[in-house]
Amino acid sequence: NLNRSKMPKYPGLERWILVEKMGDGAFSNVYRAKDSTTEYGEVAIKVVRKFEMNSNQRANILKEVQIMRNLDHPNVVKLIDFSESRQYYYIVLELCPGGELFHQIVRLTYFSEDLSRHVIRQVAEAIEYLHETSGVVHRDIKPENLLFYPTPHVPSKNPKPQQPGDEDKEDEGEFIPGVGSGGIGKIKLADFGLSKVIWDSQTMTPCGTVGYTAPEIVKDERYSKSVDMWAMGCVLYTLLCGFPPFYDESIQVLTEKVARGQYTFLSPWWDEISKSAQDLISHLLTVDPEKRFTIKEFLAHPWIKGTDEETTAAA
Ligand code: ADP
Ligand code: MG
Repeated sequence: NLNRSKMPKYPGLERWILVEKMGDGAFSNVYRAKDSTTEYGEVAIKVVRKFEMNSNQRANILKEVQIMRNLDHPNVVKLIDFSESRQYYYIVLELCPGGELFHQIVRLTYFSEDLSRHVIRQVAEAIEYLHETSGVVHRDIKPENLLFYPTPHVPSKNPKPQQPGDEDKEDEGEFIPGVGSGGIGKIKLADFGLSKVIWDSQTMTPCGTVGYTAPEIVKDERYSKSVDMWAMGCVLYTLLCGFPPFYDESIQVLTEKVARGQYTFLSPWWDEISKSAQDLISHLLTVDPEKRFTIKEFLAHPWIKGTDEETTAAA
């Protein structure tokens, strides 16, 4: 393999054979890798450049790993292993061969209501697990951090070689995933780099001494959760029409629009989208965090519960 020889070598990572680079961040490269001992299949490895980070940033990486260690949900990327060398941290993760949801929005322009529901329901399952079971808030929900494990029909970023009998499969780029075909696949929430523990999942209490917790700590917990719900509103809006609810070339103007919750269901793009979907989004893109939907309210909304027929009837 020509590619493999071009892959960098990392001390302490000899067990894994790096196959290709899948993504990168400020301090990290993410690789697809194979286990040389075949105990696991393929994995993703986030190689973090420790030497470029200050002690605060290093502590944040350790916190990210510590939080992931305690998580176990089908819609959350699993931590497989963590190790470090003098210069790097190695975060070995469950591989999401489909890559970022972001690329699928770009590829398809926007998603149908059925496909959007299929996707956002899975994001909501992950959030419900974090908020209600784990005491964790994610704080960085966006299409770049939503990865997926494609159903066999959806072309992955790295398609497997053709198998005998695969001749009938649609060509990459032509296939439009829908719910009838199994949707886009399994959505997994990734990147816990900004996440925070809001309560102790062992004792089911806010972090701190029970009974001495100040109201602002309790409120802070509620506010942090509502941050994820706002972001989910932005993701759902973007899925349905292909562009985000808040945008401006000037950061100052954009910040002002967000602060005021200034967005619209822009015509003609939103003309055909159900009123029920718009109603749900408006309960997420609510400036007052006290009035914004919680994950429980989100999951109980008719658009989320409904089938395609019901949402069309509600429109
Ligand atoms: P950062 O904190 O730098 O944003 P992420 O954890 O979000 O780091 O990883 C950066 C990118 O690497 C992701 O947006 C995605 O494209 C890719 N990536 C990360 N984890 C995986 C994974 N488990 N499977 C496939 N790709 C991944
Ligand atoms: Mg990220």
